[in-house]
Amino acid sequence: MSDAATSEQRARLARLPAVERVMSRQAAQALSDAYGRSQVVDAVRAALDVLRGEMLAGVEASNCADASESDGADATVEARIIDHASHSLEARARSRMRAVFNLTGTVLHTNLGRALLPDEAVRAVVDALTRPTNLEFDLATGARGDRDDLVDDLICELTGAEAATVVNNNAAAVLLTLSALASKKEVIVSRGELVEIGGAFRIPDIMTRAGVRLREVGTTNRTHAKDYEEAINPRTALLMKVHCSNYAISGFTKSVDIGELAQIAHRHALPVAFDLGSGTLVDLAQWGLPAEPTVRGTIDAGADLVTFSGDKLLGGPQAGLIVGREALIRKIRKHPLKRALRVGKLTLAALEPVLRLYRAPELLAQRLTTLRLLTRPAADMHAAALRMQPAFQLALGERYALTVEPMFSQIGSGALPVDQLPSYGLAVRVAGAKRGGRALVQLEQALRDLPRPVLGRIADDTLQLDLRCLEAADEAAFIAQCAELHL
Ligand SMILES: *Cc1c(COP(=O)(O)O)cnc(C)c1O
Repeated sequence: MSDAATSEQRARLARLPAVERVMSRQAAQALSDAYGRSQVVDAVRAALDVLRGEMLAGVEASNCADASESDGADATVEARIIDHASHSLEARARSRMRAVFNLTGTVLHTNLGRALLPDEAVRAVVDALTRPTNLEFDLATGARGDRDDLVDDLICELTGAEAATVVNNNAAAVLLTLSALASKKEVIVSRGELVEIGGAFRIPDIMTRAGVRLREVGTTNRTHAKDYEEAINPRTALLMKVHCSNYAISGFTKSVDIGELAQIAHRHALPVAFDLGSGTLVDLAQWGLPAEPTVRGTIDAGADLVTFSGDKLLGGPQAGLIVGREALIRKIRKHPLKRALRVGKLTLAALEPVLRLYRAPELLAQRLTTLRLLTRPAADMHAAALRMQPAFQLALGERYALTVEPMFSQIGSGALPVDQLPSYGLAVRVAGAKRGGRALVQLEQALRDLPRPVLGRIADDTLQLDLRCLEAADEAAFIAQCAELHL
């Protein structure tokens, strides 16, 4: 207790209830049942500390100023302490990872967890979480199995590859491929493909980590076949191509396609690997989406190895898939890093049903969540925007003006960075103002403070809420939550 405390303060502080006394109340008992006694004791102690601090600072609420007067007031103080403890326990128990509304217009948003999984995958994950599985057990022979066996046949069937393996993510796939096939040797890559993907994945750095010497050829905008030819030497282990994913070079450009690069490599008895990044299994042009190279097409063109992500266009869980020649995959599987980068059973459980959906390409746009979102017609989002407008405008009040407007969504995750998908959404501007300023930032914050945070995108003094990723079930949830918007 501070020396500065007055005798009156001291008297009141002395009347603060003991922890045990607070704990003996029925409400504290109920909290113990929910959170366990030790957590509640800590929370009560912390609440008492806060109250003590307030008293010393002379800011305590009026309802405890009389604490020394009567038993009724004691009860009020105790109830207040429990209330404080209850709130802090509740806040502590709230999950840090929360569902949000992705109205950014970016379907595969890396910061929001990329691909959403179809129901088949969700059921399989729940199953694998709650029951033992044959993860590494061969049910045919009763012997130990390999976890890769669960999906590699399916991957080969869908890609035309001889063999396949799966690791934690595509960055791991590239690191492992380079470590297994080119350690202490040279790998030739075009200067136009030395990309940074974000989240600190940079091709030159990965090469260093893998103990590989990077041999850059060509220039940023133009690389020719002869550039690769001239760089090949006895230390060369691999020729590599990297999908530019998140950037596009236009104008005076030249690159060597995978078919031609494979011919060069094979003339020198060298393998060629292609880091496809997003790597789709199907031709997206059939749904009117911008074309991307398919894994099968890349293998057919002569790539000996292809690496790609599980949670980008594939629409599955986070994973890195490596497919290609049997002998090379065998080497990759035997590398010690493979064990460190292996996938867990939840990933495999989710990946298998997602891959299986690709056996029915006619139904894919309906069943695969990522593709369903990417192929949603703009008219769908337009109708949703019109339905949602009245309730949302009401919640926004007169300070903000809401209109239904066309927008452009993006695929995201580095896939097709320059192509945009026509969409519709809700556009919010500050009423009667040219600039969004603080009011718009405040609105953005208020939307993030909702029980299920709403994330949009500010552009041109407008908060855009693209409705592409808001499917029917979530539309009702969004509207229900509008009443809780505090502006
Ligand atoms: C996305 C991407 C990666 C990294 O994949 P992750 O699955 O995020 O690890 C690597 N290379 C390219 C070309 C990419 O587009």
